[in-house]
This record gives sequence, structure tokens and C-alpha cells, in this order.
Amino acid sequence: MIFDVHVHVFPPHLVANIENYLEKDPFLKLICTSPGHKYASVEDVLEEMEKSRVDISAVSGFACSDSGLCREMNDYVLQAAKTFPGKIAPMISINPHDPGMEKEVDRCVDKGAAGVGELFPWGQDFDLEGDAADKLAFLCKERNLPLLLHVNEIVGHYYPGKGEVSVKEAAAFALKHPGLKIIYAHWGGGLFFYELMPELKENLQHVYYDTAAGPFLYENSVYRAARETGTISKLLLGTDYPLIRPRRYFREMKEAELTEEELKMIQGENARALFNL
Ligand SMILES: [Zn+2]
Repeated sequence: MIFDVHVHVFPPHLVANIENYLEKDPFLKLICTSPGHKYASVEDVLEEMEKSRVDISAVSGFACSDSGLCREMNDYVLQAAKTFPGKIAPMISINPHDPGMEKEVDRCVDKGAAGVGELFPWGQDFDLEGDAADKLAFLCKERNLPLLLHVNEIVGHYYPGKGEVSVKEAAAFALKHPGLKIIYAHWGGGLFFYELMPELKENLQHVYYDTAAGPFLYENSVYRAARETGTISKLLLGTDYPLIRPRRYFREMKEAELTEEELKMIQGENARALFNL
């Protein structure tokens, strides 16, 4: 079974009026106006899944600063999951500063939400060590919802969306919330490497990493680095589609000469266990 945990859609009716929203949300504007940015609908995702033989995608909208827009994202992915059962695991978009966060999470859980994210601590301006993040962590843990968080490497080349929140904040957040299922996107900004430190391995037991945007960041041997750090069982295929298609990840994993067993774990089995599917 192939399970992609990091896919983005954007409701077509919002894309049609995107100019109206960009001025109200600087991070949304930064991402949507960056060179090469693409929008995908649920139908685009399903078509790509068919081509790439992906069985399930955990699909996120875009976590905006405006809670009304988040709600529209959520309605779109929840409806998609209902229309295409077994194909779409709906991830919900939340602004942790929204006083109505708990109500929105519960509304979405009632409609079948599979997890929360991808959220952007840097882009949405919430501190992983602050009260809003604490509340979010508590809500997710209590409802057993995996939380997909964007973090990125703190070194290397710039790209739109690359922010200041990285391994230090990610490790501290995980330590503060044991038992919360966290998926750190984009290889956790490199956090997986620190699992070579015994106390970090202990504290990050409930942390997973996805491969999203990896082809733009790392050499293929990053997969063998995961093997060496003992984190293959925590690594999840995440494509960041429509940014990159799944086939590119499959090719790079193949070139990295992973075993069949390792491929199966990364491409779906780890995610299936995490999402209880
Ligand atoms: Zn991201």
C-alpha cells in the first residue's frame, strides 16, 4: 500500500478569486506568488494518484491566518474524503491563534478529519513554545490526531516559505508534548540526524518525518542516512504534490538502494500504522 502523507489542494472556487485573499495573508501571498507555484484540485490529486499508483493521500488545504478561509479548506477536504472513501485522508487547516480552534477541530473530527496540518509555525506566526501551540497539542493528543508541522533546515539555500523555525524548536515541542503524534515535514529540517543522540532518540519516539521537497534539498543518500540514524520506521512518503510528483521520490528511493522492506515501510506501512488505517 502506498500512502502519501503530504499533499496540498486548493479549492477551485478560492483559486478563482485568489487576488482577494492574497492581500489579507502575507504568507499565503508569499507561497502562492512564488515562481513555479501550482494549485491542485482534488481531481488533480486523484488523477496523479492513479498514474503513480498511490493508494491513499493525506490531503491538506492551506493553513491561512484567516479562520474563515481555513474552514473553507476544511470543508473541501472533508467533502473529498466523503466522495472518495479510502482514497483521501483529510487533514485540517487551523490557525492556533483562533479562539474558536477547539470548536473547529471538533466540527471537523465529527466529519472524519484524519489529522491536523500542514501548519506553518513560522508562516502563521505561532510560537511552538507558546500557549497557542500548547492548546493545539493538547487538542490533537486528546483526539489522537497526528499533527503535521512544517519545519525546515536552518542552513542552505533560500526558497519562498523557508523560515526560522527548525530543529531546536521542533525538538523542544516534541519534548514538551510526549505522546502527541507529530509529523515533521521536510525531513524535520534535519532533526532525524539528532536521533543519533540517545536522549533525543528517547524524547522523539512519537515523532515522524516526511520526505516532502527532499529532492530539492538532499542527495538521494539521505535515505541511507535515515537507515544509519535508525529512523526508517519513522520516515513517511510525503510528496508536497503538486510541487513534486510521487514518481520522482520513487526513483530517488530506488537509486538509494533501499531494501524492499524499507521501501514498503517508507512508502506506506509506517503511515498506515500512524493513521490507524
Ligand atoms: Zn511544508
